[in-house]
Amino acid sequence: MKKLFAILLTLALVLSMGTMALAASDGVITIDNAIVGVTYEIYKMFDFTPVSENSSQGRYSVVAEWENFLKSDEAKKYLSVNDETGTIEWVGSEEETRKAEFAKLAVSYAVTNHIDATKSEKATSSTVEFGSLDLGYYAINTTLGTVCILTNTNSSIKVVEKNTVPEIEKYVQEDSEESNTDGGWGKVNDAAIGETVNFKSEITVGKGSQGFVMHDTMATGLNFGSTVSVTDKNGTVASENYTLKTTGTCGCTFEIVFEDSYIATLSQEDVITVTYSAVLTDEAEIATGIANSVYLAYGENSSLQTQPKTTKTYTWKMDVFKWTKEGQTEKALAGATFELRTSKTDENSKIKFTKVENAEVPTYKVDSSGSASITTDASGAFEIVGLDSGTYYLYETAAPDGYNKLSEPKTVEISATYDDTAISADYMINGAAPATIKVENKTGSLLPETGGIGTTIFYVVGGLMMLAAVVLLVSKKRMSSFA
Ligand SMILES: [Zn+2]
Repeated sequence: MKKLFAILLTLALVLSMGTMALAASDGVITIDNAIVGVTYEIYKMFDFTPVSENSSQGRYSVVAEWENFLKSDEAKKYLSVNDETGTIEWVGSEEETRKAEFAKLAVSYAVTNHIDATKSEKATSSTVEFGSLDLGYYAINTTLGTVCILTNTNSSIKVVEKNTVPEIEKYVQEDSEESNTDGGWGKVNDAAIGETVNFKSEITVGKGSQGFVMHDTMATGLNFGSTVSVTDKNGTVASENYTLKTTGTCGCTFEIVFEDSYIATLSQEDVITVTYSAVLTDEAEIATGIANSVYLAYGENSSLQTQPKTTKTYTWKMDVFKWTKEGQTEKALAGATFELRTSKTDENSKIKFTKVENAEVPTYKVDSSGSASITTDASGAFEIVGLDSGTYYLYETAAPDGYNKLSEPKTVEISATYDDTAISADYMINGAAPATIKVENKTGSLLPETGGIGTTIFYVVGGLMMLAAVVLLVSKKRMSSFA
């Protein structure tokens, strides 16, 4: 007996969950550092009858439901029960891992054989207390999954939860920053419609975890690439260790169900990295972060969840106005044709678009299968949407009749700033708040030929000046004649 208590006391110090002995009346098991939301269950495996009141000496007897388990070869590797003497003794090495193995074995037996927990409680704070317990030897289980062994000879037992919950983090890659030391991975990025965006979710395994299911939800505007790559410290994780479901059971975009046997091979600090991609579609809202959220379900029956983690993907727009000066007013010009290129030297860098039907302002969405040229209507205005940040060259390829086309393209720089903390981004056009890019046309000849108000003033002023000159000349003549 003494030997067993010594062993079990050691176990109490090193292990978090498990089996324990109560050797006085009104046993209490308190679990400290409990994880809110986790259910803690205790199973009485042995009854303890003290030789006299408050004695730590006494007799253990197996609880009927556990008889078969304790007689099994599996259990005998760890625990030897002597019914005649009413004693139990630990068998073999006292390594922590062996004690954990035994407890795990006991709890999985309870689950398979539908042994009801003696008591069960869901933690609502960091302390869970099981009171008014019979004296005995208890196994403790949690919905987190792992069980270990623990005991004490006092009637009040304190158990410290040493399991840690798994964590998940999520990142999106900004392709223009791929060469940075962090590979451009952050919480925010921007992209053009049609572009592939890379995502990464990192699961830190935690201690005592099971039932891992990663749920990923992409908002409208992101089209999941339908494949994932899973890696851990050993490299690529073999596909038999997880199942990808592209129809999420919770309304998510996809789920990855990990095999418990695989998770069991990992340790607390290990990280599982899941990378995947999505294409930014023409449904992407402009200058509005498009969310990709992930959470991890874990624990028994995957009943617990991490907080969701989100990244946002942005896409930008550019407004253009084609005009000419007419007196004091800006007159919109129809019939000017434009192209937008990403390179001044490469004619093939033209961006292609499709025109959005029934838009208030003529709107052109980036679309690699569309057309590269945009021609202004009577409003002179158009909007190009779905652009990545970067430098663009707006070429006028044809001017309206009677006007000169621009000899040089207009340079338009869309620059974005990302805030990983606020998970937000903002953009500027040519270093200022987004404003309309105004493209002015002038007529082709030096002397105005059209009858705008500008030329009328020119004629009137010119006429008045000539008149004044004539008057002056005449009066001078007159004056001299009088002299
Ligand atoms: Zn789901």
